[in-house]
Amino acid sequence: MQHRPNDCNQNSGQNRKRVINYLRVSVTDLCDYRCTYCMPPEGVERLPHSEILTFEEIRTVVGAGIPLGINRVRLTGGEPLVRRDVPQLVRMLSSLPGIEEVYMTTNGSLLGEFAHALRQNGLKRVNVSLDSLKAERYREITRGGRLEKVWRGIEIARKAGFEPIKLNVVVIKGVNDDEIVDFAKLTLENSYEVRFIEYMPFGPPAVSGKFEYIPADEMKRHIGVLGPLEKLPGVSLSGPAERYKLAGARGVIGFIPAMSHSFCPTCNRIRLTADGRLLSCLFSGRAVEVKSLLRTGAPAERISDAIRLAIDSKPSGREARCESFMSSIGG
Ligand code: SAM
Ligand code: SF4
Repeated sequence: MQHRPNDCNQNSGQNRKRVINYLRVSVTDLCDYRCTYCMPPEGVERLPHSEILTFEEIRTVVGAGIPLGINRVRLTGGEPLVRRDVPQLVRMLSSLPGIEEVYMTTNGSLLGEFAHALRQNGLKRVNVSLDSLKAERYREITRGGRLEKVWRGIEIARKAGFEPIKLNVVVIKGVNDDEIVDFAKLTLENSYEVRFIEYMPFGPPAVSGKFEYIPADEMKRHIGVLGPLEKLPGVSLSGPAERYKLAGARGVIGFIPAMSHSFCPTCNRIRLTADGRLLSCLFSGRAVEVKSLLRTGAPAERISDAIRLAIDSKPSGREARCESFMSSIGG
């Protein structure tokens, strides 16, 4: 079977015009935190080791996506850095011809230990999730995380060459919305890209029902006390963020209005879960299973077909709320 870059994206089904070039890979369902909005207090049920894709299997799936247009990969989880030897996976993926950039989203708890190895192995960028600048609140949100360790990790990552670092802040009403301005202020003197994410109601209602999002427009109004936000041209290559700058600021402020504005038509990503399912959308229950193909020695074309199926089943708009946690989907 012959494929040209983005052939399937442009020629098949409802996604004819859509360019899907970005694969998010969850390397583990495990995490050293249990953030209140992302996991229940007892954590999530651990998948048996044998159910988790090996590094070689992940490489096979990514490789099969290249002829379809996939050229960027983000490693996520769970917490990607709790999986042993993740820098080795970074090396395996970043050296695949056709993969232009490998990124990672991490809670930062282990970043100090791994930043240099990740950089040396070809990781291009790192996003650190940081929902509070207050140590005690941070500990409460993450159920035990140590903020000063994350800042140390960020500093080490900057020295290792990760610049600018994106800081992901999930803004939740009554939890951390009083820190929006303080987070925005960080961009005045530093090159961070602070990205405010609207909380999305994932997980069972007992969890998701407890939290409420703040619309990005309201966040912008709060930030207005620091001066006008100047919109930056273009869109982020790796996501749906709207990007702005405060006058004279070194860094950038981004907003991911996941709830208040639909960016479905421009969404450029699919997801591979740690247990080998391809998901076309965070909010869709549809999954294409690839693990059984990988483990029965299916040829690369069959894996590409499965990826094409996932791309083609990408909904053109949001379908439903999601009862799974982000950590198991690969946020
Ligand atoms: N453990 C890593 C971390 O926290 O960065 C990677 C996985 S985590 C699921 C990826 C991102 O999803 C984090 O920035 C996290 O804050 C975000 N996230 C988790 N649950 C969310 C929710 N319900 N709504 C919006 N973002 C969420
Ligand atoms: Fe773990 Fe990331 Fe979920 Fe927090 S947001 S529990 S760090 S996976």
